[in-house]
Amino acid sequence: MIKRNGMLVVISGPSGVGKGTICKELFKRDLKDVKLSISATTRKPRIGEYEGINYYYKEEHEFDDMQKRGEFLEYAKVYGSYYGTPKKYVETNLNNGISVILEIDIQGAMQIKSNFKEAVFIFIMPPSYGELRKRIIGRATDSDDIINRRLKAALKEVKEVVKYDYVINNDKVDNVADKIICVLNAEKYRTSRCRFDFSKFKEESFD
Ligand code: 5GP
Repeated sequence: MIKRNGMLVVISGPSGVGKGTICKELFKRDLKDVKLSISATTRKPRIGEYEGINYYYKEEHEFDDMQKRGEFLEYAKVYGSYYGTPKKYVETNLNNGISVILEIDIQGAMQIKSNFKEAVFIFIMPPSYGELRKRIIGRATDSDDIINRRLKAALKEVKEVVKYDYVINNDKVDNVADKIICVLNAEKYRTSRCRFDFSKFKEESFD
């Protein structure tokens, strides 16, 4: 009698806050009917990253062609590289009642906000600036220029939290994953996300 629509869930937060680790942790749980969107990017793969698992790695001209063909749900230039969410994957899953998580930056999140009013927006907050700096530097995969760019950007990015529906402090990965699951469950049971069919809900006939 009740069919639930798929939800579009946006997770953002400053670079180095641990969104990737959090998403990995989320999918270790028994999440029903939820998938993670894989973005396209012009950024080069880091050590330990793989095509089709972390990102679809594109040359700038390939990304540009995809954008011109309207293949992105949203896209943005972030810290000097382009990133975009492939539209088809998201639309197909949502149409089949499957929720999709987008792990994207704030510019992209705001594009989604203007096109998908019913999407859910979650901001992951670093425990402190010092902790964030440690994580970004500790990753040791980006150049000094990129590290500085990301650290500088973080000062502005955290102030954008007010545009999100939920804010979760990244104290411990499994705590964050638990809290995201609470949000997903609460959002899933909103009546506005359901389709009802009352045709079989009738008074029984005894004659
Ligand atoms: P990283 O290079 O560290 O993997 O990602 C850099 C930033 O780009 C992160 O804030 C990440 O959330 C964001 N990002 C990843 N994929 C997308 C996307 O498809 N669209 C947008 N707008 N941002 C993205």
